[in-house]
Amino acid sequence: MSAPITGDAFSACLDDSHHAFREVCARFAREEIAPHAQAWEEAETFPRELYLKAAEAGVLGPGLPEEYGGGGGDLFHMVVSTEELLRGGSTGVVVGLGSLEIALPPIMVLGTEEQRQRYLPPVLAGEKISALAITEPGAGSDVSGVTTRATREGDHYRLTGTKIFVTSGVRADQLTLLARTSDDPHGGLTFFVVPGDSEGLTVSRAIKKTGWRASDTAELSLDGVRVPVSARLGEEGTGFLCLMQTFLRERMYLAAIGTATAEVCYEDAATYVKQRETFGRPIVKHQVVRHRLADMAGRVLAAKALVYHTVGRALRDEATPPEVALTKNQAADCAEWVCREAVQLLGGMGYCRETRAEVLSRDARLLNIGGGTREIMNEIAGRAFL
Ligand SMILES: Cc1cc2nc3c(=O)[nH]c(=O)nc-3n(C[C@H](O)[C@H](O)[C@H](O)COP(=O)(O)OP(=O)(O)OC[C@H]3O[C@@H](n4cnc5c(N)ncnc54)[C@H](O)[C@@H]3O)c2cc1C
Repeated sequence: MSAPITGDAFSACLDDSHHAFREVCARFAREEIAPHAQAWEEAETFPRELYLKAAEAGVLGPGLPEEYGGGGGDLFHMVVSTEELLRGGSTGVVVGLGSLEIALPPIMVLGTEEQRQRYLPPVLAGEKISALAITEPGAGSDVSGVTTRATREGDHYRLTGTKIFVTSGVRADQLTLLARTSDDPHGGLTFFVVPGDSEGLTVSRAIKKTGWRASDTAELSLDGVRVPVSARLGEEGTGFLCLMQTFLRERMYLAAIGTATAEVCYEDAATYVKQRETFGRPIVKHQVVRHRLADMAGRVLAAKALVYHTVGRALRDEATPPEVALTKNQAADCAEWVCREAVQLLGGMGYCRETRAEVLSRDARLLNIGGGTREIMNEIAGRAFL
């Protein structure tokens, strides 16, 4: 008997193109990720060629415009691909491949047609790795604290400062980077596209993390990095508003990772309890175990229903920042809770790196931190109470 929440519970939200795409992503996860996930987690990296393979298979850039080489489709294609790629057993691989999901939207929103043609196709073809560089040692939740300076000198800018926690930043060929062009806390922020091999740009640190291990995370130092004015996205001062817009997509992406993570762990636990025997019978025969699975299933169903609901509203341009923030919190909480329960049900195996529950339980911890912390999400929602 299959686990009760898997299968087609949400298929009414999807059309034939999503179902066909799900098959493609599932095959990619099965053939290209799962066999290597454990080794890549241990190595804390994965081969660059995976970007090319992902592009060839059509699983890179779901929901991003086909005219620039993206997979096309809509936000549900992004959700479906996240759900299936997560089955490969490494969030690090998924977010490493997916750093373009957060790095490219500012270019799509603010870029001219010429800039889009220049910056998007090589990334969506898997030839270049892109990363988003917003956070700084002194500015995480509070983006208005960004101090990386972009100083105009004729037909170019000089960029100086430090960025931290940049996913894919260690080997990025292209950074979508937020810098300060004036002292106005929010209105003085501007996006630039910075080549990874720029003179004066160095990876000061590859950061070791609890989870997301197969993805690299960089601290970057910029010392007078020279970029042409044509690398500026939009007018000076447009960065913050753009970021607020693109955060919605990033948070739905992270919410989808959350429910996908929870579902995989739940399924693994549901399978394990039928195989593992204690006191002469499979542990699923113990009522307390079945009730725990029922609680896990209920939480996954609820969070996933919310994610699909919010994504559906986003497709109709109806999703508000508070809704998206609360959806991310629910999905992240669901992932953390369900993964913990899965580890418990797997007993000692749940604490071994060879199980997906072990990896994903560590990975899940990030979801209430990255893309805006749980507290900041509540702050966005809580303003409505003032
Ligand atoms: C693995 C990983 C990958 C990441 N990838 C990227 C990336 O690709 N690009 C990028 O730019 N950034 C990235 N980040 C950065 C991430 O978005 C930030 O870590 C996050 O926004 C929190 O910022 P902070 O770490 O500076 O925490 P802080 O802002 O210092 O927060 C510390 C604590 O204070 C709380 N807090 C802060 N302000 C308030 C408040 N007003 N009310 C209540 N509580 C508050 C927070 O909720 C948190 O609990 C990544 C981080 C990690 C760990």
